[in-house]
Amino acid sequence: MKPWFKDGLRFKCTGCGQCCTGSAGAVWFSPEEADAMAKHLDMELTEFIKKYTRRIGNRLSLTEIKRDGNYDCVFLDGKRCTIYDVRPKQCRTYPWWPENVNSPQDWKEEGVRCEGINHPDAPLISLQEIQKHLPQED
Ligand code: SF4
Ligand code: SF4
Repeated sequence: MKPWFKDGLRFKCTGCGQCCTGSAGAVWFSPEEADAMAKHLDMELTEFIKKYTRRIGNRLSLTEIKRDGNYDCVFLDGKRCTIYDVRPKQCRTYPWWPENVNSPQDWKEEGVRCEGINHPDAPLISLQEIQKHLPQED
């Protein structure tokens, strides 16, 4: 059965940076992504882990910095990601996360945070394109 967004969804990233700040959260990354970020920053992996990550339960997340009541990702500089080319998959696939496209209501609600969702200038992103970013179902 095709999902409710079978005809596509409107989205265009404006670069507002809001998905990298806001309430406290987590940015998960894989060991390969940690290697890539450390290499990009010309750091040893152990140094990168110590400086830019924090433990949540039994996993590591990128660190957040509290600024003006918001929790900014440690790599957010103004509205810009300073490790854009090697940002983790979690960042690269936003806003195409299952919880955001679960229902029309979820998509609309995420639009409160992300102004690119249903932005007036946003192109229609096809079902095929959206599904490339979503976790594959078994
Ligand atoms: S919140 Fe949405 S529009 Fe803003 S930077 Fe993130 S993805 Fe782009
Ligand atoms: S790594 Fe970059 S894209 Fe991901 S949350 Fe941090 S600043 Fe945003």
